[in-house]
Amino acid sequence: MDNILVYSEELANTEYSPTHPFKPVRARQMYDLLHRYSLLDEINQAVIKPEPMPEDLLYLFHTKEYINALKTCDTGEFDLGLLEFGLGTHDNPIFKDLYSFSLHASGGTYIAAQKLVLEDTRFAFNPIGGFHHAMSDHAEGFCYINDIAVTLHDLANKGYKIAYIDIDVHHGDGVQNAFYNDDRVFTFSIHETGHSLFPGTGYENEIGKGVGEGFNVNIPLLKDTDDEVYVYAFEEIIPPLLKQFDADLVCIQVGGDGHRDDPLAHLNLTSNGYAKVLDIINKNAKKILATGGGGYNLFKTSALWALAWSIFCGVEPRDDFAGSVGGMMYGPESESGSLYDEPYAIGGYEKDNCFQHAKDVANYIKKIVYPLHGIGG
Ligand SMILES: [Zn+2]
Repeated sequence: MDNILVYSEELANTEYSPTHPFKPVRARQMYDLLHRYSLLDEINQAVIKPEPMPEDLLYLFHTKEYINALKTCDTGEFDLGLLEFGLGTHDNPIFKDLYSFSLHASGGTYIAAQKLVLEDTRFAFNPIGGFHHAMSDHAEGFCYINDIAVTLHDLANKGYKIAYIDIDVHHGDGVQNAFYNDDRVFTFSIHETGHSLFPGTGYENEIGKGVGEGFNVNIPLLKDTDDEVYVYAFEEIIPPLLKQFDADLVCIQVGGDGHRDDPLAHLNLTSNGYAKVLDIINKNAKKILATGGGGYNLFKTSALWALAWSIFCGVEPRDDFAGSVGGMMYGPESESGSLYDEPYAIGGYEKDNCFQHAKDVANYIKKIVYPLHGIGG
């Protein structure tokens, strides 16, 4: 079965603004790392270009008024009336060809999904995707078009059963909203608690409504949480529900901002914790649709995405250039020559506190959500 990377140099070269922390160039850095670590040499791997999202599909999630406003942004010019749609703010600036960028970025996730359901593809990755904060009627948190909400809605309408796992350090609020009353898409989000981080939502008691009750699981974790606590919470809560739900396709938003070197958030994850979680997902999924997401340490994020690619493709990174100087080596990688970080752990009271909180969340989900799926608590 095939593995597909959706990649466009042109999209990767797009900038919100020179000072904006969200950088599409991470996709190009990932692409370079895939070559550097011989991760794109298999015959069952292909690189395809994104195509624009078909406009009618946008309305599966977004309002007409919002999309009309977004279209006018292609000129790159600001108008006061755009502010009510969250456009032209510090977080969501207006730049030239913004609508075109958003349409292609979200179309990348859509085309990846098409490959998975219509062709013999097992895994497809759109690194310039994962805009999980975009709301139906406004832009938010660096996100304009919610590629995940639109794509998964389309798949659900076609009869596919979807599990969505959001490992971005921020709560996947836009996607949660899209499927809060829906049992066709099971949404999971594991993130730093809203008490200390944007968007301030994503608590364990947000479990879905109506037919969607029990199909929305949040795992908020305390700031400073390290790999051990994170992997514990993930493994304790998610796999039993995934097995029971038995999705046709698992969509994962691979935000890299849970990394301990991320400048905008406060978890203490390393690539070792990420790798464990990605491996669990890989073992519990028939097909995998992966997107990028947040991640503001550019090098660490692109290295995590390269690692995700390697795990989901089942190919080990191979360092044919070990010892060489220059070339495609840059950032901290030039010191270590590896996609992996050194292990890191917190200790003492801080560790106990983070662990206890994770255990409390796990117990809550087991008590309240598991019975809704016929799983003993
Ligand atoms: Zn994020």
